[in-house]
Amino acid sequence: MPSSIHILPLKPVVLEVLPLLVEPLVSIFEADVTIAEPEGRIVPAVLDDSRGQYNSTDILRSLLERPLPEQCKIVGVTSVDLFVPVLTYVFGEAQLDGTAAVVSTYRLDNVMYGLPADPVLFYERVLKETVHELGHTYGLVHCRDIDCAMHASTAVEDIDVKGASLCPACRRAALSAV
Ligand SMILES: [Zn+2]
Ligand SMILES: [Zn+2]
Repeated sequence: MPSSIHILPLKPVVLEVLPLLVEPLVSIFEADVTIAEPEGRIVPAVLDDSRGQYNSTDILRSLLERPLPEQCKIVGVTSVDLFVPVLTYVFGEAQLDGTAAVVSTYRLDNVMYGLPADPVLFYERVLKETVHELGHTYGLVHCRDIDCAMHASTAVEDIDVKGASLCPACRRAALSAV
């Protein structure tokens, strides 16, 4: 049975970029990919007032509360800034070999670094980060191959140097995981 991927826009979100993710995700994961209707604002309860950021683990937990078909992965995409308590920020978080992932586009936008907007670069970064977090849900861990989307990224520059698809070994592992 092919897996399916459900993209859930969590407002606030840059909606225009989401349809561009569908085709690459279909071909990388050989999955059916759908984009859900955007829901209301991201759960306010996950906002940490003192940090002004949203707790990504709490978001994952809320994603798992919804009923999903078997073999379905869900990836929430939002433009708010995410964190986990031990880190200043995260680009996203996922359940390893699980169901849910979340991606933040907040730090993927050049404007955030005082640079002119670059829609193509922004899209590429969002795709790489989405493939990366979804890859974790397919059981993939970080990969040493710099061209592989599973290569670890702690800064946006790391995202820019890596590729947007999976290396042959990671792709094989992802496809055999479902
Ligand atoms: Zn990772
Ligand atoms: Zn790899």
